[in-house]
Amino acid sequence: MNRDLHRVYNFSAGPAMLPQSVLQTAAAEMLDWHGSGMSVMEMSHRGKEFISIYEQAVTDLRELLSVPANYKIIFLQGGGLGENAIVPMNMLRGKNSIDFVLTGEWSKKSAAQAQKFAKVNIAASAEATAFTNIPERASWQLDPQAAYVHLCTNETIGGVEFHDVPSVGDVPLVGDVSSTILSRPLDVSKFGLVFGGAQKNIGPAGLTIVIVREDLIGQASPTTPDVFNYAVQAQSDSMYNTPPTYAIYIAGLVFQWLKARGGVNAMEQQNIAKAQLLYNALDASDFYITKVAKACRSRMNVPFFLRDEKLNAAFLKGADERGLLQLKGHRVVGGMRASIYNAMPLEGVQELVAYLQDFESKNG
Ligand SMILES: *Cc1c(COP(=O)(O)O)cnc(C)c1O
Repeated sequence: MNRDLHRVYNFSAGPAMLPQSVLQTAAAEMLDWHGSGMSVMEMSHRGKEFISIYEQAVTDLRELLSVPANYKIIFLQGGGLGENAIVPMNMLRGKNSIDFVLTGEWSKKSAAQAQKFAKVNIAASAEATAFTNIPERASWQLDPQAAYVHLCTNETIGGVEFHDVPSVGDVPLVGDVSSTILSRPLDVSKFGLVFGGAQKNIGPAGLTIVIVREDLIGQASPTTPDVFNYAVQAQSDSMYNTPPTYAIYIAGLVFQWLKARGGVNAMEQQNIAKAQLLYNALDASDFYITKVAKACRSRMNVPFFLRDEKLNAAFLKGADERGLLQLKGHRVVGGMRASIYNAMPLEGVQELVAYLQDFESKNG
């Protein structure tokens, strides 16, 4: 990272940091994309320039995640929360109940929204342990008649991540992958559908990515708006209406950046190294506390607490002064949270660890 520019280490959970080189490419191409004389923002979504940007982005995403040929990639709008309604509208397929595994605030929100469309069965919940673990798979009360099983592969607020995809039998598995997509390999074939907002680990807010198995689409509830109907959007290559063109362009630059760095396997290695560095520093001290069970600690979102919460304001102020921003925890959990997505360089985590140690030595 070029520290001569005024660039901070932004630990926000989302919208979050983007790779500096991606922003620089976008800046260089702002007024004239590849000799077109236009900004990508000004292009017709049906013109050959934008179609080429779109097609490259879909191809690169398919390659990065090894998406099987019988899955459609759809670029939508509406965000992760929009999908909480759009998924049931599309995926009930004449059935009337959905199984949910609750591991935190996002899966809870998904279940609450789905209740507008179907009977919701809470197959398992970690609420009794304040969402600091994942309920044992053997304890899940799954319903073989359910339309699908919903889980959140990484709880952005609580910092709980599935490190394996659980097997749920023949009922399709739906994963909210908003905050972990492209941070590690994802075995799409184990899911009927995955969805995620782009603003955590991919690009600007406004783009939502849906990857869905073909045989599951085409049976949307009759009241589903056409723009949110997966079959309609899949058939028109996500261009039934105007897609979020600029967000797709930036996402495409991020996909290229990922490919140049070795794809999701290389990202995973880097993300393991960053997360280990941070968790090791937190574990090494009793000045700081973490609450999530080690086996399901998130590599992307690291909540932690100062044992003496009276020091919170001073901690955040000192961090800001060092250019370490947005470390305040989500209001539901409190404390601190460091989000360390793909675009957070190792040096950012090293600087955070140095600050943790420095703050402790002055206040411990
Ligand atoms: C951020 C987030 C959402 C919500 O995304 P919006 O784009 O704000 O609707 C949903 N699920 C998870 C896991 C998230 O991290």
